[in-house]
Amino acid sequence: MPEGQTPVADETEQFEPIWVRPSEALERHAQGTFFIIFPTIRTLERLKAFGSVQDLMQACAVNEEPLWTSCPRAGWLAGNEARYMEHEAPFGELALVNPDGQIHHHLDWQSEQAVALLKNLQRLTAPNPGVMTGPGTNSYLVGDPVTGYIAIDPGPADDDHLQRLWRAAGAQIKMIVCTHSHPDHSPGARPLQALCANKPPILGLASLPTARANSQFSPDRELADGEKLVLHASGPDGEIRHTLRVLHTPGHAANHLCLVLEEDGLLFSGDHVLNGSTTVIDPPDGHMGQYLASLDKLAAACEAGAIEFILPAHGHVLGFAHKAITQLSAHRLRREAKIAAAMQAMPQGSLQEWVEKAYDDVPPRLWPVAARSLQAHVDHIREQTLP
Ligand SMILES: [Zn+2]
Repeated sequence: MPEGQTPVADETEQFEPIWVRPSEALERHAQGTFFIIFPTIRTLERLKAFGSVQDLMQACAVNEEPLWTSCPRAGWLAGNEARYMEHEAPFGELALVNPDGQIHHHLDWQSEQAVALLKNLQRLTAPNPGVMTGPGTNSYLVGDPVTGYIAIDPGPADDDHLQRLWRAAGAQIKMIVCTHSHPDHSPGARPLQALCANKPPILGLASLPTARANSQFSPDRELADGEKLVLHASGPDGEIRHTLRVLHTPGHAANHLCLVLEEDGLLFSGDHVLNGSTTVIDPPDGHMGQYLASLDKLAAACEAGAIEFILPAHGHVLGFAHKAITQLSAHRLRREAKIAAAMQAMPQGSLQEWVEKAYDDVPPRLWPVAARSLQAHVDHIREQTLP
């Protein structure tokens, strides 16, 4: 509005008109002195990024497209209805599970029961939450009662968890795939196989000599890059088929692989892409150059296969798959630029000094973990600058 306007309430929907800046309104709402409903909160959060009305009008004028569109999703968390916008971590899961916007899905983490994400996709989270594992390792079951199931990442050798996984699959596990050998992913494979009367093969990539002692793994058979694992059966309405395509993705671990569920356009990302935490690159088994190249490979696969959702080994389902991966890549490259600058400013500096400078936006308690990723970036920077 132009200057000097007096707002007047209509007394049906508005009662106490005042002029207020978006940030001030949000502050008062946060303090509990100013009630605002969800859509208004989200609109004000976006408006407050603009310094003035002129800036906002300018942004509208240069954009042919709407400045933003929004379709919040809701689920249940700790007994309450919780709503999320596109940029918030649980959004993708709600969009996948309730595409029509119904509010049925529970976001609370638990290890007691498998969660049905689609009719041919279940997730059972292992009871191993922690700093490195977030809410715990997600084991996935792909398949249905007619085709049987492929189990992805059985997790740690936790008897109760493996029993629950076996039961969720109706004792019909046809193959067991490990995305990589880390101790929260692969040790459950052998005991799960032992539970199954049909002894399903354990598939994946063998750990390399660079793997730590707790990450040794040798599958019954190695999976080739591009190989397809197929479950199929004839059901009442014709043939049912679930196809998992293997993508070799070294970087987080030298023997890491991801899987594309072709019929549903889903990507199982193991630890290569996570929701709510950052992938650790721990050299020498982890390698930053390979990690970035694998991200590019995953981004290309998402584009080619119209993949919208990512199922990570830790955290909820991620939406906007291609965008999520390219943002991750950009974030790593920004961090690498910061590290390169720290190295240039302090050529004789110690790793610790470089961590403090390049991770000054990260709480010091995370610096020991960050130091491993920093080492990976330093290796990558040196690989690129050496003749
Ligand atoms: Zn891992």
